[in-house]
Amino acid sequence: MTTEYLDLVEWLRECKNDRDGVITPEIQHAGDIIKAGGLVAFPTETVYGLGGDGLNAEASKKIYAAKGRPSDNPLILHITEMEDLYGIVEEIPEAACILAEKYWPGPLTMIFKKKDCVPYSTTGGLDTVAVRMPSHKAARALIKAAGTPIAAPSANSSGRPSPTKASHVKEDLNGKIEMIIDGGEVGIGLESTIVDVTGETPVMLRPGYITKEMLDELFGKVEIDPVITTLHPDPNLKPKAPGMKYRHYAPKGDMTIFEGESEAVVARINAEATEAKKNGHVTAVLATDETKDKYNADYVFSVGKRSNPEEVAHNLFDVLREFDEVKADRLFSESFSGEKLGLAIMNRLRKAAGYNIIKVD
Ligand code: AMP
Ligand code: MG
Repeated sequence: MTTEYLDLVEWLRECKNDRDGVITPEIQHAGDIIKAGGLVAFPTETVYGLGGDGLNAEASKKIYAAKGRPSDNPLILHITEMEDLYGIVEEIPEAACILAEKYWPGPLTMIFKKKDCVPYSTTGGLDTVAVRMPSHKAARALIKAAGTPIAAPSANSSGRPSPTKASHVKEDLNGKIEMIIDGGEVGIGLESTIVDVTGETPVMLRPGYITKEMLDELFGKVEIDPVITTLHPDPNLKPKAPGMKYRHYAPKGDMTIFEGESEAVVARINAEATEAKKNGHVTAVLATDETKDKYNADYVFSVGKRSNPEEVAHNLFDVLREFDEVKADRLFSESFSGEKLGLAIMNRLRKAAGYNIIKVD
């Protein structure tokens, strides 16, 4: 199939000061593709999503097929207004109202009991449904043009790092979907925070830009799914977000994270890289601005300033994809503090490295 391409970078610039963007005929065409059961990749404030009509079981199946995604890994439904929520969930618990008031539209997904109209192919067979209200104008215009909740997982091939630029989406999905909307680089760069609001107290199932600390501030202490903080995967720990059990965000090479004091980490990575190069491997390092000039690997990519976790989050997936671009097969990464946004950064990094972590003294 030929994938159509719609560039909304200029449109986004023009509607910068509007609450919502104007639905142009081109955007309406994208919405019509969704309505007709087709797939459109689009930018959001977190990462690019691969969208289809979330209430159309066949469209959801196409999403799984295009991504090569396991069918038990449910999709997130994207809406633009609170009214849209009433149509797809059985009940809206008080915690959800508090969270929606504070963080919607934004990078927060909540888990609700689903209504019958939401097909099991969208929810991976679950009786619950994940819902998010994005703030990105292109995402909102597309949802409005489609006139239906849009089911959208990240627009990458299953297992690869999530896309933060339209070129990443092209790499993975060109020729497999009807349209790619280019909105330039996304803002946040990590997927949404997921919170289950179906129980007595909210439980964080996936860390993201909305941090555990921010949720604690609203509710006292919220629970956190233990798989998020685990340093070693435990076969007895079953993640509550089914997607969290899969190898994810992973570059193709063999990746190791080094934890410890900066000088010691640099020295250890350089020793490992020297050895790997001797054995004919192509080596690459995920570094920070503070350390990037100190490495001897074939390739060194900085995710930005260590003192700026927003910048690190923004660049993380791009660097993981760069590793593949240069065909590096031995990858070494620095580690980050697990506080606040750092929890989400380390969660993605650990999964990318398949929990290959070495402590350096
Ligand atoms: P992605 O959009 O690719 O980041 O994937 C969506 C994430 O949301 C996956 O990790 C899913 O497991 C999670 N998710 C979606 N629906 C549910 C649900 N009903 N219950 C728990 N987790 C969910
Ligand atoms: Mg994903």
